[in-house]
Order: sequence, then C-alpha cells, then structure tokens
Amino acid sequence: KFYRRMHDIPESWGTAVNIQSMVFGNMGETSATGVAFTRNPSTGEARLYGEFLINAQGEDVVAGIRTPQSLTKIGREEMGEKAPSMEEAMPEVFGQFVEVVGKLESHYRDMQDIEFTVEQGRLWMLQTRNGKRTAKSALKIAVDLAAEGVISEEEAISRVEPASLDQLLHPTLDPNAERRVVAAGLPASPGAATGKIVFDADEAERLAGLGEAVILVREETSPEDIHGMHAARGIVTARGGMTSHAAVVARGMGRACVSGAGEIHIDEAKGVFTARGRSFSAGEVITIDGSKGEVLDGAVRMIEPELTGDFQTLMAWADKARRLKVRANAETPLDAKTARGFGAEGIGLCRTEHMFFDDTRIAAVREMILADDEAGRRTALAKIAPFQKSDFAELFEIMAGLPVTVRLLDPPLHEFIPHTDEDIDALAATSGIDADKLKRRAKELHETNPMLGHRGCRLGVAYPEIYEMQVRAVLEAALDVKAKSGQAPIVEIMHPLVATGLEMKYLRELTDRTAKAVFDEAGQKVDYLVGAMVELPRAAIRAGDLAEYAQFFSFGTNDLTQTTFGISRDDSGRFLQAYLDKGIFETDPFVRLDQDGVGGLIEIATERGRAARPDVKLGICGEHGGDPASIAFCEKTGLDYVSCSPYRVPIARLAA
Ligand code: PEP
Ligand code: MG
Repeated sequence: KFYRRMHDIPESWGTAVNIQSMVFGNMGETSATGVAFTRNPSTGEARLYGEFLINAQGEDVVAGIRTPQSLTKIGREEMGEKAPSMEEAMPEVFGQFVEVVGKLESHYRDMQDIEFTVEQGRLWMLQTRNGKRTAKSALKIAVDLAAEGVISEEEAISRVEPASLDQLLHPTLDPNAERRVVAAGLPASPGAATGKIVFDADEAERLAGLGEAVILVREETSPEDIHGMHAARGIVTARGGMTSHAAVVARGMGRACVSGAGEIHIDEAKGVFTARGRSFSAGEVITIDGSKGEVLDGAVRMIEPELTGDFQTLMAWADKARRLKVRANAETPLDAKTARGFGAEGIGLCRTEHMFFDDTRIAAVREMILADDEAGRRTALAKIAPFQKSDFAELFEIMAGLPVTVRLLDPPLHEFIPHTDEDIDALAATSGIDADKLKRRAKELHETNPMLGHRGCRLGVAYPEIYEMQVRAVLEAALDVKAKSGQAPIVEIMHPLVATGLEMKYLRELTDRTAKAVFDEAGQKVDYLVGAMVELPRAAIRAGDLAEYAQFFSFGTNDLTQTTFGISRDDSGRFLQAYLDKGIFETDPFVRLDQDGVGGLIEIATERGRAARPDVKLGICGEHGGDPASIAFCEKTGLDYVSCSPYRVPIARLAA
C-alpha cells in the first residue's frame, strides 16, 4: 500500500502474480542464480551489472545469508572480490546470458532488471522488467539510448520522471549513511540539510552571519520569519501542510523543509524541543531529509548535486517538444536569477507582500496600517513607494524581455502588526507609536477567519491608495528600465482574490487611471496588462464577467483548492492523513490538483473567459504549477503557461 502511494499507483489496480514451474539453482556447482541489470541503475553506466550465487536459490540472494559474487570480471575487480565472477566461473553459460540480455534490452528498448537461474549448466530466464533507477541513472540511460538510436528524443524525454529531477537539484543524504530518526513529518521541500537547532528567525540570521549552518525549528512560520528561513539551511515546523507558509517559501528558496512534524513539541522559552521521548536543545546538530519528511539525529553524510551534460541535453529536447510556457514564482532578485538559471520564461507571480517585511520597510508599513485616515496612509505609503519601485526595477532588469506578473498586496493587514504584548511594547519603543494605540489597532484588525477576510483585492477596494502606490511603483520602474536599457519590460499587473465582474471593473479602472497619471507625468508609456487571480469558485463561474475587464487570468489554485473544498490550506495536515488512509482522497489536493472539482472550475473559467475575451491569457501560479500531474491537466485544458517555485522550473519544463 505504501509503495503504491509512493508511486501514485491507484489502489484499484490490484496486484499481478505470475505462476510458473520451478527450475533449481541449488543442484551443485554447475547451478547458480542471480539478478542482473543491463545498465547500472545508480549511475546509468552502459555495462552489465549484477550479482549471482553458485549452488543457491533466488531466495538466498535476497535474504543476504551468503554474499553474492559479481557477474562480470571487471565488476569483480572493481569490488576487490576474491570469488570468481560468473564470467570466469561459467564462461559458456555467461556467453549465452550476455546474448539473451542484449536481446531483451533491444526488444524492450530500455534498461532491464533480470532474474535468472542456471540449472546444471542450463540457463533459464525467470523474469525481465524495466529496471528501477535513480534520477541520475534515468537521465543517462535516456540520453544514451537516444544517442544509440534505440529511442527517439521525444521518447527519451518521457523516460525521465519529471518529479525525480528534484533528486538532482538538491543535495541529498547518502543512501548508505546511518539514519537515526528523531521525528517524522511531511516531505515539504526536497533535499537534505544539517545544522544547529535554532528556534528564532533573528537568531538563525545572526548565527548564519557568523558562518554557522543552522536548522530553523518553529511551531509554524510566518512572513516575518523569512530572513531566518533564508539564512537557515533547512526548516522544520511542528504544524502546517504541504502548502503552508514554510513549505511554499522553503521550496521557493530551495531550502530543505519538513513541515507538520507533529511529534515535535517546542518549548521556545527553555530553548528545547522534545520528540519520541528525547529532548534537543538549541545548538545541537540535526539533519533533515526534506525528500522523505524526516528529522534525524546528528550530521548525516551528503551527496552534492551535479547538473551534468546529460541534464542540459535532455532539457533542451524537452524545450523543443513542449507547448506550455514555464514561469517562476519569485520576488527577490536572487530567486529571479535562480529561476532564469533554471530556464524560467518570466515571472508568473511576484508576491509583493514579501517585499513589505524587510527590516528597512516594516516600520513604514506599520505606520500605513496604523494610520487613522487616508491622508495618514498616503504619507506612509509615500515612504514605501521608492523601495517598491527599486524592487520592481531590479526584477524587470533580471527578466529582460520576459513577462513579469506583479500581484498587488494580498494578505490581511493584521499580519503586518505584532500580536503579543511584548512585541507591541518593543515596537512602541522603537517606532515612538503609542503602545495603547498599537494594541487597539491590533484588536480592530483581528479577524476570526482572516483567509476569508479583509485580504486580496478587498484591500484595494477599501484602501485604493495602497494599490495606487503599487501600480505607480510598477509602472515608474518599467519606464525607468525602458529608458535605461532601451527595452520595455513586459508588465502584467494582477489583482488577487477577485470575486465579481464589478470588482474587476473597479480594479481595472483604478489601474488604468493610475497608469494614465504616471504616463502623463512622464510623457512616456509602456504597455501593460491587467489581470485577475482566479482563486474563488465565484470568480471561476462568472469568469465571463471578469474577462470583460481582465486581460489575463492566473489560477491561484492554493486558494482555489481551499475555497472549493472549504479546507484550510494551513491546518488541513491534521486530518488529511485520515482521508488518505481511508482512500477518501487519493492524494493531498493541495499538492496534486483535484482535477474533477477544482479542475472543473478551471475548465469552466477557461471556457467562459475565452468566450468573453478570446485572447485572454491563462496561467496557473498555485503550487500545483510545479506538479507534473497537475501540469498535464493544464496542458489538456489549454492554459498558456504554468508558474512554480524556481527550483521546480526544470521539473515543470520536462513535465510540460
Ligand atoms: C494561490 O492562492 O494559489 C496563490 C498563488 O496565491 P497565494 O499562495 O499567495 O495565496
Ligand atoms: Mg492566493
């Protein structure tokens, strides 16, 4: 059951069994049994690879009672074995065997995993199948087989599991290293990391600045932890699912992350966490395996990634074959550069709120939120504007000639102000704002259901000056970059969480009005598009209304999944496993798009959007944009592009 789950094999397929008559490898010194791979399943090297045992049954090889010998002379020499190889011990049968396995590989046109028995000098083939292999091996075998003329380039592309590329993009744990598991959670962001335990983002940044490798361990993370997450080698959270903040951000940064490790109980005050009866203090070394979702004791041996020539070759073939464009979700210059390095064809989602949390800006942001009236907000916004403008200019320069979708402010405002009395007092001391006023405002902004609350474009409707500032910053930056480089950036301004046509009309008018003012002042123009994120069922169903004013749609499938199922993307980890165990959900809908339900809404929106505006540009920027099965759905539905975190860009290119 676990294996099926791991490989996405539906439970309903059942298990196949072959029944066949026995031959015996345990009938003396002229009998033997063994397992062979026609190429090396770890490295892909094009050479027969395998083991055998004289006078034994297959069971003896598997059970490890005796140590098997190499099949080939060269294999034996490499392993430094004394006992003769099959090539040396049974040259005649070995000759036959080599001929047969060659035929099998040619026939199936892929690396074969073969079991055989020699009964008193006579060779019997028991079974052959396409061999399981590492990503590295899959890549080499696919490229080699294409070079040998056995398969086409297109077939070679389909021979490599896109998700497996993850193994190549991040350092991984040595599979032969000893692992002492401390706690298990979700495999939120692949790769492995070793470092000292730190419970606080500032401390993580401080220690990293001193050259220490740290693992940030948190109950859960918030946007205020971003600097600490960035400074850390890896992140562990006790709560949260696969699209929780920690998971999304860690994947974006290429940091290993284990989320929702519920066994971990953190006592921040004491600086310890306990799990499985053991306690770990700040400063102790742990290792995390983000591909498996495990937290391990101590330092565990690693293998560094290597993006070889085969990787580049296969990616180039994939690029020739695909229709869907692949963009990245990125807001920092570093992420944008990483994304371009991995072959992203633009930015599909720049979450501008991440730019608000920087130390140099947060004071002005808080001043804006605390302002009593529009005039006060405008004064504070004027302080943030230059920062936003230079952020956007940098992104436009990095993405020269490629589209950049800037999403206007999305999260509820209360996320930007501190919550505990202690934090509020600290802010009051540094900002000079009265602590009571801070507390009052924090209370005013409190919401019972913030994800269904005053967020997304509702911020722009209630406080248009916020969005005006952002639109102005985007377009002024675009004009500057155009003047400097001679090339106009391709600008797309996106409004989050739109629900109705009239809302979109209001936002389009706000955007166009601001743009006109900017262009009039500058005496210059740049082209830009205005679009909507489709993240609510109502938006999908009434996509025709939205498309009257929106020139593009980007499906925000994190929120669309949340709002379609009515399941919190942040808390679902607590009960989702029960649904998976009971087969009610085949997969986590926040990881793999629910094609029938959420996908149904995407199909409706695509059809109705295109009916109202035939050239409406369509993309997806939820986490599903980096999931191969979900990308297949996007291709089938005819979207124009997918957008995913930078480290998933190669996966998306191959999947597309
Ligand atoms: C989404 O909801 O899918 C999305 C991309 O926006 P965010 O994750 O920032 O809410
Ligand atoms: Mg969203």
